[in-house]
Amino acid sequence: MDARGRCGYDRFVMVEAESPPAAEPITAEPMPPLATAGPPAAEAGGVLTVDLAALAANWRMLGSRATPSECGAVVKADGYGCGIGPVCAALARAGCRTFFVADLAEARAARAVLPDQAIYVLNGLLPGTGPAFAEIGARPVIGSLVELAEWDAFCAASGWRGGAALHVDTGMNRLGLSPEEAVALAPRVRTGNHGITLLMSHLVAAQTPEHPLNATQIAMFRELRAHYRGIPSSLANSSGIFLPAGAHGDLVRPGAALYGINPTPGRPNPMHPVVRLQARIVHVRTVPRGATVGYDATWTARRPSRIAVAAIGYADGFPRALSASDERPGAEAIVAGRRCPLAGRISMDLLAIDVTRLPEDVCRRGDLVTLIGEGIDLDTVGASAGTIGYEVLARLGRRFHRSYRGEG
Ligand SMILES: *Cc1c(COP(=O)(O)O)cnc(C)c1O
Repeated sequence: MDARGRCGYDRFVMVEAESPPAAEPITAEPMPPLATAGPPAAEAGGVLTVDLAALAANWRMLGSRATPSECGAVVKADGYGCGIGPVCAALARAGCRTFFVADLAEARAARAVLPDQAIYVLNGLLPGTGPAFAEIGARPVIGSLVELAEWDAFCAASGWRGGAALHVDTGMNRLGLSPEEAVALAPRVRTGNHGITLLMSHLVAAQTPEHPLNATQIAMFRELRAHYRGIPSSLANSSGIFLPAGAHGDLVRPGAALYGINPTPGRPNPMHPVVRLQARIVHVRTVPRGATVGYDATWTARRPSRIAVAAIGYADGFPRALSASDERPGAEAIVAGRRCPLAGRISMDLLAIDVTRLPEDVCRRGDLVTLIGEGIDLDTVGASAGTIGYEVLARLGRRFHRSYRGEG
């Protein structure tokens, strides 16, 4: 309502009676070259930069390696911590048509930016969630006979024919029908109304090409495909794409490699790095020789030292296992182009860096230092923390300012 108590509609009618309103200019919004999420950079303790052009290049590289198979994308865990929305949008622009998420909430987030691409939900059908799948046109990855029965009942009752994947367990012993169940079911699936649009299995040890389970699983999957002729199949994850083509199927499902993790451990990483994590210096102090830094006094200054305190901690997903003590070095940070060691325990929201070796004027309050990127790769960070790059990436904190670069 305006000041005279009339609502906008009246006013519009009045204006129209006098002179027709000018047509709104149509502004074609160009795709912004740089989108952001999270708090403003100036207020954030950490800045995560996601290079969507590198992500798209990684997807194209994996796709060309897997040719003639289709290349899908696994975007579970919020796009491996990179942000499911921008990641899906960039991959769709690059031409990806099939996406895999873990659960329905992720499927919804993916659907918001994917109008007509296939979205498979790896954790399958939770009891009573059939209608939610239909509502957003997502496909459950059916992992057991009870799930299949519920999906069939839902499809029969609702008439929904949106498709589903059938997951067969060839060795993971996690999700999936047994091969015997799958073989017994095959004649009914091929002739019936199950609406199975993908036959899939998952490799146990694809990162280790010589692992005997690869050959076993590939052979079992080949046999299953024969029973399910006419239904597209999918076996390989990122590392599986680097196994012989028998590991691929009609559709490959890379996740980690898209985001820059090395799918061929022990060999050079063929992927482009995608993420860079920078931390904000909030304080620089000097400590005398013999002083300790941080909780539990595990790190002692061996000389008068300059300590830069950065505003990222384990609550941001930076592993506490990367703390530095007198016995064991921790992670490194790149400060003004030079590698500097951490000092002491990583706390919840802060970590300390020994910048004694740098000239005094180069590391100041407000500066950004790099914890991941510029040569510090996720795989190394993961290994030093006693885990894998996957875990470090997937747990990257939600407090960071996020900056998305590249056209995808
Ligand atoms: C996570 C996952 C993938 C992707 O694996 P990466 O090793 O990240 O490439 C593929 N398939 C299934 C079933 C998964 O759970």
